Amino acid sequence: MRKNGTPSFPLFLLLIFGLAALGLSLLEAQSATSPTAPAPEHARPVKRLLIRNAMIIYGNAEPPFGPANVAIEDGRIARLGDVPPEWRADAEIDATGKYVMPGIINGHIHLQDERGGVPQPFQYEMNLYLAAGATTVRDVGSDWEKAKVWRAQSAAHTLVAPRILLYERIWTAKGLHTPELVREGVRYAKEQGVDGLKLSGMDRDLAEALMDEAKKQGLRTQIHIAVDETNARDWAELGVTSLEHFYGVADAALDGVQDFPPEHNASNEIHRFGRAGELYIQKNLNRQKLSDVLDLMVKNKVFWCPTMYAYVASRDVIRARGVPWFKDYLHPTLEQYFQPDLQKHGAYLIGWTNTQEVRWKKDFQVWMEALKEFGLKGGNITVGDDSGFIYSIYGFGHVHEMELLEEAGFHPLEVIKMATVNGAKMIGMEDRLGRVRMGFIGDLLVVNGNPLENLRLLNPYGTDVMLYDGKVVNNYSAIAQGDPKIKLGHGGGIEWTIKDGVTYHVPTLMQEVKKMVDDARASGAGK
Ligand SMILES: [Zn+2]
Repeated sequence: MRKNGTPSFPLFLLLIFGLAALGLSLLEAQSATSPTAPAPEHARPVKRLLIRNAMIIYGNAEPPFGPANVAIEDGRIARLGDVPPEWRADAEIDATGKYVMPGIINGHIHLQDERGGVPQPFQYEMNLYLAAGATTVRDVGSDWEKAKVWRAQSAAHTLVAPRILLYERIWTAKGLHTPELVREGVRYAKEQGVDGLKLSGMDRDLAEALMDEAKKQGLRTQIHIAVDETNARDWAELGVTSLEHFYGVADAALDGVQDFPPEHNASNEIHRFGRAGELYIQKNLNRQKLSDVLDLMVKNKVFWCPTMYAYVASRDVIRARGVPWFKDYLHPTLEQYFQPDLQKHGAYLIGWTNTQEVRWKKDFQVWMEALKEFGLKGGNITVGDDSGFIYSIYGFGHVHEMELLEEAGFHPLEVIKMATVNGAKMIGMEDRLGRVRMGFIGDLLVVNGNPLENLRLLNPYGTDVMLYDGKVVNNYSAIAQGDPKIKLGHGGGIEWTIKDGVTYHVPTLMQEVKKMVDDARASGAGK
C-alpha cells in the first residue's frame, strides 16, 4: 500500500503535461523541491530511497542540523545533505517538520512467542519493537532453536523484525560446576553460532574460566549479576562486555554484605525483588567504593545496560497497571502473565506496600546517581527494556527507559547517543551502525516532531501535545491563557522505521498489533 505523498490524479496529470511541454530539465529542477517519487510501501525493500527535508539527529550527541536530505541506496546511506537531481529515487519520504535519527539498538530483550506456556504471536513483539524505533535488538536468553531461525529470517527480510543478535545461555548445556565443563560449554555455544553469551552470577573460579574461554573464542559477554560471590568488580576485572540491570554494582560498594533479614529466601520472588530495591540504600553502602567500582568499569570499557524500565512498576505499581496503551495494545496472553502469581518470574507485586515503593524510589535515586557518575566519567550506558515481565510491553519499554535516563540527569542528545552510538559499540558494529553517516547501514527513524523536545514522542502510542488553532506548538509559547484556540491534542510517534533500507510504516505496524490483540481477545486467548 502507498502512504502519504502519492500524487493525487490531477497533480499527476499536471506533471505529465509539464514533462511533455517543458522537457526533462524542468523535472530535474523540481526534484530538489517537490516529490517526484511515490512514498515507500510498508515492509518492502526499495533500491533507492530519498528522505527529503529532514532535521537530522546524527547520533553522537552533536546538535541537530538541517533541513537536509538523506539518500539510501541498497540499504546503505549513500548521500547526506544535498542530493543531486540526477540521483533518482524509487521512493521518497517528505520529512518536512520531522526529525531523522539513527535506529535504536535495544540492548536487552527476550524473544517471546509465549508467556507462561500460553502462545502469543511472535509478530506482536516484533511489530512493537519496530514501531518503537528498534532496528536492532540483542536477545539475552530465549529458545535457541527458534531464535536462530528468526535471526536468519530477519536478516533476509522475510520476517518483519529488527536485526536480531543472540546472546544465549546454551553454554550451560555441558554443566556449570567445573571450570572445564564451563569452557566446553563456551566452545559448544560458539560452534552453535551464538553472537555472544548471556551469563548470570557464579563463583569466581568458574567466571575466570568462562571469561578466558569466551575471549579465546572471540565471543562478547553480558551478565545479569545476582547476589553472588562475584560482583561488578570481579566482572569488570575479567573484562565482561556489559553489565545488565543494577545488581552487583552496589554489592561491590558495601562494607560487608546486604542486611538481609533471617527469613530471606532468594527463591521467593517477593523477597528477592523487595530486598533488591533496598540495595542502593543500605547503610553500609560506601560511596568511595561505589566510585571506585565505577572507575574500574570505565577503565575496562564495561558497558552498563541498566534496564531501569523493568523495575519502575516496583516504585509505582498503580501507574504500571494502568498505562493508557494497554487498552488497545496489551495482548491477553501478556495481560494474563502479568497477573500477580508467585510461580511466575517477576509477577511478585502482591500486597505491595507504600513502604516498599518508597524504598524503591529512594533506591532509584542512588542508582541514577551512580549511572550519572558512570556516564560523566566516560562510561558507556546503553538502552534496553527487558520487556515481557512486570507490566512491561515491548518497545514502549525502551522509550520509557530513555525517559528514565533523562531523569537520571542526561541531556536528550546524550540519551539518544546511548540508544544508538553506544549500543552499536556494545555489539561491535560501531563502524557501520548507530549514526546518520554516509556509508553506514540505512537504519533510520523518521519521527513526527522533535524527540529532543520530548523523548516521549518516540512512544508508539504517541503523546500529549499542545495545539494552537490545530497546529502543534511548544507549551512555553506566548499565548494568551484564555485563548479558545488552545487545545490538548495527541501527536508524535515515529512515522517510518527504516532497517537496512527497508521501510516499515509505524501506523500500519500498530494497526496490525491492535488487530492481533482484538482477535486474541475475541477468541478468549489468555483466559
Ligand atoms: Zn532480561
